[in-house]
Amino acid sequence: IGTLYVVATPIGNLEDISARALRILNEVALIAAEDTRHSARLLQHFSIKTPLAACHEHNERDEGGRFIQRLLAGDSVALISDAGTPLISDPGYHLVRQARAACVRVVPVPGACALVAALCAAGLPSDRFIFEGFLPAKRTGRRSRLEQLRQEPRTLIFYEAPHRILDCLQDMASVFGGERVAVLGRELTKTFETLKGAPLAALEQWVAADANQQRGECVVVVAGCRAPEGEESVDDNARRVLKLLLAELP
Ligand code: SAM
Repeated sequence: IGTLYVVATPIGNLEDISARALRILNEVALIAAEDTRHSARLLQHFSIKTPLAACHEHNERDEGGRFIQRLLAGDSVALISDAGTPLISDPGYHLVRQARAACVRVVPVPGACALVAALCAAGLPSDRFIFEGFLPAKRTGRRSRLEQLRQEPRTLIFYEAPHRILDCLQDMASVFGGERVAVLGRELTKTFETLKGAPLAALEQWVAADANQQRGECVVVVAGCRAPEGEESVDDNARRVLKLLLAELP
């Protein structure tokens, strides 16, 4: 039985590919790629001649069987997406599921991932966080999703398309409040990499004033809600009990 490798590729800077990823992409019998034309350029850059086959969101469920057959016949397959880590807002989930169900060994080959790149440089709490992927494209859906997240205490991470970044920041400022701090990570690892942190209202204005900030790929990292409404933190409770006890002391 072959192995299914889930291989991360760069999110911009080609130097971010790992030595292990290069070796595996060279060694496998087949590379399953989200967009074969896009990945052909990456493979060409690294002089990798392994054949490519399409594995994208439209054929993944139906065509997965073809890859499983190859794996069961003894060929190893590497799954890659257009950029970063497969399955992270990218195809691959169905294939990995089918492979595991067929008792095929699935091996991760970690590397670049935009959400991790943004979080590790944002300077917001990183001990606990939630990844929300892409918000709904339409305003009503986006706002109602944000409403559900308003009191989330963990750091929030979102992917957003450049033509929606301004609308997205506007909605975040109005739902989370303009004072809530956020960091926009744009074109990470690339020439025009930007990491701008500011309260949401100021961040929105900054992006609105500069059309360049509305281009390229972006991640938005938002500070969690500090004291969820209607709930008191342990500190507040402890302080109140202490005050009562102190009043009773002689
Ligand atoms: N699988 C990828 C990963 O591991 O991050 C994400 C794929 S998703 C289809 C593409 C989105 O990821 C972009 O719209 C953007 O939100 C984010 N992204 C990808 N590359 C980025 C980069 N270099 N800088 C900022 N965001 C990036």
